[in-house]
Amino acid sequence: MQLERPSSPADAVAALTGGGLALAGGTELVPLLREGLVESDRLVDVSAVIPRGVDGRTIGAGTTLAELEADAQIPAALREACRLAASPQLRNMGTIGGNLLQATRCWYWRLQFPCYLHGGDRCHAKSGQQREHAFFGNERCASAHPSDPAAALLALGARIRTDRRELGLAELYRLPTDDDRATTTLEPGELILELDLPEAESSVYLKAMDRKRWAFALVGVAAARVGGETRIALAGAAPVPWLLDSVEALDAATPLPGTAYKVEIARALIPRAVASL
Ligand SMILES: Cc1cc2nc3c(=O)[nH]c(=O)nc-3n(C[C@H](O)[C@H](O)[C@H](O)COP(=O)(O)OP(=O)(O)OC[C@H]3O[C@@H](n4cnc5c(N)ncnc54)[C@H](O)[C@@H]3O)c2cc1C
Ligand code: SF4
Repeated sequence: MQLERPSSPADAVAALTGGGLALAGGTELVPLLREGLVESDRLVDVSAVIPRGVDGRTIGAGTTLAELEADAQIPAALREACRLAASPQLRNMGTIGGNLLQATRCWYWRLQFPCYLHGGDRCHAKSGQQREHAFFGNERCASAHPSDPAAALLALGARIRTDRRELGLAELYRLPTDDDRATTTLEPGELILELDLPEAESSVYLKAMDRKRWAFALVGVAAARVGGETRIALAGAAPVPWLLDSVEALDAATPLPGTAYKVEIARALIPRAVASL
């Protein structure tokens, strides 16, 4: 396996378009390579070419979760979502760009069951173990998006700048379909460079988890008031970060028998989050 260290974003994109995989902190990519869930003989270390750090409301995609959690310029919801993610060691290595692109934690997918997301014709979680799975958007794949920061950024109305376009955070994600099982809209070789946040009046992130530290969200609730409007987004609820109009929108949830309890968690957390705005 080759490790390339490009010296400009353009060189990185060229190496990625030629079949390389972007390596930032490596906390997600290295385990996926080790497990054979992704394959490549070429890694492209992008850490020297993507921006890192916070400048007002602009965040470099190479900024670590540990840096975001401690930066007073960052809105409370994002700081808290970073603080409650993973472990200190992982937050010290893991970047915000890599966090947004992490793969599902669904164990059927991780154990390489030939499930829908792997290109098969059925979701094994729907007839199997599903306690940590989705209660929205789960018609085909019932995985629950694991990123806490993605929910916070969605509620905050963040925008993303890549090497070739600008998009809202919601447009980074898609539900898998029969002809395309991808859960992001990133093109081959496309690099996330920066995130832009609008001015938020207030924001909050609440996370229900099995342990108080180092656990993925059973349900994460981000709420933000931006331009007088309240926005709510969920982690651990759907195969992608999920935007909700209000707590009443939970009535349209489509829980599996094993995830109905998550709807009740969300029903309890959303009013708490909105009240604390
Ligand atoms: C044990 C464990 C527990 C965790 N718990 C949580 C949790 O509770 N909450 C949570 O939100 N997250 C959690 N995570 C996820 C963790 O936060 C991510 O692994 C980390 O943020 C990924 O960042 P990275 O820089 O290491 O990404 P990498 O591993 O370097 O990359 C991840 C993916 O993103 C791509 N990539 C990276 N940067 C870019 C870029 N700039 N442009 C385009 N593509 C890019 C890579 O090619 C790869 O596909 C956990 C991870 C582990 C291993
Ligand atoms: S939830 Fe998605 S990733 Fe998990 S088994 Fe079903 S199709 Fe596969």
